[in-house]
Amino acid sequence: MIAEKMKGMVANSSAIRAMFEEGNRLAKLYGRENVFDFSLGNPNVEAPEAVKEALISIVKEEAPLELHGYTNSNAGYEEVRQAVAESLNERFQTEFSAENILMTVGAAGGLNVILKTLINPQEEVIVFAPYFGEYRSYTSNVDGVLVEISPDTETFQPKLTEFAEKITPKTKAVIVNTPNNPTGVVYSEETIREMARILEEKQKEYGTEIYLISDEPYRELAFDGVEVPYLTKYYKNTIVAYSYSKSLSLPGERIGYLVIPSEVADSCDVIAAAGVANRILGFVNAPTLLQKVVAKCIREKTDLTYYNRNRETLYEGLIQCGFSCIKPQGAFYLFVKSPIEDEKAFCEAAKRYNILLVPGSSFGCPGYVRIAYCVAYETIIGALPRFQELAKQYFQ
Ligand code: PLP
Repeated sequence: MIAEKMKGMVANSSAIRAMFEEGNRLAKLYGRENVFDFSLGNPNVEAPEAVKEALISIVKEEAPLELHGYTNSNAGYEEVRQAVAESLNERFQTEFSAENILMTVGAAGGLNVILKTLINPQEEVIVFAPYFGEYRSYTSNVDGVLVEISPDTETFQPKLTEFAEKITPKTKAVIVNTPNNPTGVVYSEETIREMARILEEKQKEYGTEIYLISDEPYRELAFDGVEVPYLTKYYKNTIVAYSYSKSLSLPGERIGYLVIPSEVADSCDVIAAAGVANRILGFVNAPTLLQKVVAKCIREKTDLTYYNRNRETLYEGLIQCGFSCIKPQGAFYLFVKSPIEDEKAFCEAAKRYNILLVPGSSFGCPGYVRIAYCVAYETIIGALPRFQELAKQYFQ
């Protein structure tokens, strides 16, 4: 009896659930400490202490009726949006004000809000493989058409020649995600400039507006001092979807924001429509308590040294075993080349060593596997000898 459109989605999510259940099954058989689950992007570093303190003080000090009430605007509390705008202006020399910020239910909520706001049925949304698989569902939610750009497996930077060829009069949005899930690659400034140039050219050619959506929950997770360009500065029609899920380790609290700059085409309409989309998608407003928490914790940071140690140890360990992988500059994932073409078979082989990985086909990039290293350091140390055993099957 379920809707036709849901059938494919259910089939897809049962693959993820199956992995989750497999983890539980193995844990029962061998003990949790002997299962090496690298399948989830759930942060392993605790939220900063300041988050806990903010939660406690807000609950103690603020009037409950206001604190737990609907916000008077679907965009969120004015003072929270102003605090977000000011912190962005300070860090990226932008000129946002509260009206450019819309508080959302994480980046997932923000992406659904902005796609609902912009996309008519059959309009095209371009993504660069490998990409976060949920973009497929979010585009389908608004009856848009997902257009994939094939991966450049040398660098995992976007393939811009193919990009230019695939932009059509129906292209309404392009989603980029840097630092990237699943590769950990940060798109270079050169890439961004060239992408912006192509978009400007195509807008002129077709007389259309093409919105660049920068999905950036991993912005703060960047290593080795790498710069992550702030995209609104390179292309006028840029909208940012941000989240505190990874940067403050709050994925279950569902808090993030959209930035809709005043330079964006039809910005007043886009801002107003996004507020309505937030309401009618059923989010109504972002969680009020968490809005207040992030405003208080706007300068807080996660412990990057923890993730960095995991990154270095796992990367070096895998390379020594014979695996090949681009060294990630951000996020908390490694995207490793499968030693056999069928990466799903490789994931099955890894399972025999109690190692759980995600096949690259979930990200539109078969032949690779994703390893989420947002796990305890001990998990990495425990897994490395098993990766060594696994590698022996393929490399001599
Ligand atoms: N975008 C990317 C690339 C992600 O990896 C994730 C979560 O893993 C999201 C969006 C959704 O994040 P949130 O928890 O903020 O909804």
